Amino acid sequence: TELPEFHELTLPNGFSYKQPTGLFINNKFVPSIKKETIDTIDPSNGEKICSVYAASEEDVDVAVKAAKDAFKTTWRHTSGSDRGRLLVKLSELCERDTDKLAAIEAIDSGKPFEQNAKGDIGELYNVLRYYGGWADKVHGQTIPVDDNKLAYTVHEPYGVCGQIIPWNYPLCMLSWKIGPALAAGNTIVLKSAEQTPLSALYLCNLVVEAGFPAGVVNIISGLGPVAGSALSTHPLVSKIAFTGSTAVGQIIQKAASSNMKAVTLETGGKSPLVIFEDANLEQAVKWAAFGIFFNSGQVCTSNSRVLIQEPIYMKFIEKLKECIDSDYKQGLPFGDDTVMVGPQVSKQQQDRILKYIEIGKKEGAKVFTGGYKVTDDEVLAKGYFVKPTIFYDVTPEMTIFKEEIFGPVVSCIPFKTEEEAIELANDTLYGLAAALFSKDITRAHKVARELEAGMVWINSSNDSDFRVPFGGVKMSGIGRELGEYGLTNYTQTKAYHVNLGWDL
Ligand code: NAD
Repeated sequence: TELPEFHELTLPNGFSYKQPTGLFINNKFVPSIKKETIDTIDPSNGEKICSVYAASEEDVDVAVKAAKDAFKTTWRHTSGSDRGRLLVKLSELCERDTDKLAAIEAIDSGKPFEQNAKGDIGELYNVLRYYGGWADKVHGQTIPVDDNKLAYTVHEPYGVCGQIIPWNYPLCMLSWKIGPALAAGNTIVLKSAEQTPLSALYLCNLVVEAGFPAGVVNIISGLGPVAGSALSTHPLVSKIAFTGSTAVGQIIQKAASSNMKAVTLETGGKSPLVIFEDANLEQAVKWAAFGIFFNSGQVCTSNSRVLIQEPIYMKFIEKLKECIDSDYKQGLPFGDDTVMVGPQVSKQQQDRILKYIEIGKKEGAKVFTGGYKVTDDEVLAKGYFVKPTIFYDVTPEMTIFKEEIFGPVVSCIPFKTEEEAIELANDTLYGLAAALFSKDITRAHKVARELEAGMVWINSSNDSDFRVPFGGVKMSGIGRELGEYGLTNYTQTKAYHVNLGWDL
């Protein structure tokens, strides 16, 4: 289908703008070669927002070649300071357009505009500015060997990086990917998630306005098995970075072996939050609720398993329900600034979560609150809303203890001793995050050491920070994003040996 270059859209908050439809290649929006398109849906009412072009394998090839050319001709020769300046400029433009970007994010993903989408834009521009600051600080070592030798290392960019992101944090995930990659001197082809392509395309306008040379940043919409697959197998892509499901992460790891691409993966989780009886209960309840109900539970680090020491078990669960009722108002993304919980991103995700809820009930877990699709409200019934749900008396054999639900569904499990808590917490294939609450600092640190996770929060949950590394162990992924560590994903070390007089 032939699409216009832009759709004129007016969002529910009155914001009117031109939504680009094309693939962003070489600083231009272009139609896909075969004119294939994808529809994007407003998850708060199930209505189509608009269509955008979807990349085929041939389009991916064009984008990768553009990125390769830009790497060879301009970006490789652009100084770190100049790369940094461009990233900081882009950050400033994102900050300037906070309300616009947040509105697009809200309509496309269902995030409540005020309480959620705006925060994502803060993360977006903070991450871009942070990595802008790093761009002229990416350097190697000089290594003392002996009098006759000078040895040093240079941290070189890979060249073209392929980046595949999910729909739960469209712009944040984009910044986590492009920030360090560009700072380190790579050019990129990023594929957005098919459910949420709109904000990334709008951001491409800002990439041009910031002054990035053509071909450095290429952003395409498209389906995973088509465009994502083409990117992860392309021979000119030297590195692939992915965030999404564990199953697709495994597919990408296999695909990447075709030319030995470097791979970083940030996949699923089933993160435990352990609450000892000496915890500050009020705070434990609030952080636990934040860690599973914020963003409608669509967070890879969400504390979907809460382990509670027996004496405070039922008290915690009662207070968690009170907290949902008072602090986690469900509603439409626009129009009510107090709404915290929007719809799930898609019908598919809503169905998936409801299926898990049914399995939980069937396997004998008890529902304390929620456990159903929102149907009692005529307006919300049109969207993909799931009532925030607390399961209790969940046991380790149950599916809802083991599998990632990726929705506002928490499993509460009692434990007696510290040893039992650690065993339950680690009884999972995943190892993304873990959290614990205790006032005893010795116990807190000792337990934290035993938890198999890439990140541990002590007396909080899900308060990630762009200056601190993020990533998992076990089947939650490979590599770390954010912070200084995040840069190491995007460079390879080259060693130089200089002979200063060792004659053979
Ligand atoms: P997904 O893994 O299918 O999608 C993530 C990204 O990968 C998207 O851009 C998609 O287009 C792309 N993709 C899909 N198949 C691909 C392939 N064969 N080759 C290359 N790229 C491909 O995730 P989903 O189906 O949207 O969601 C399913 C589940 O994944 C969720 O319920 C949740 O458990 C998990 N998930 C995790 C995260 C996270 O942050 N870790 C984010 C989204 C989804």
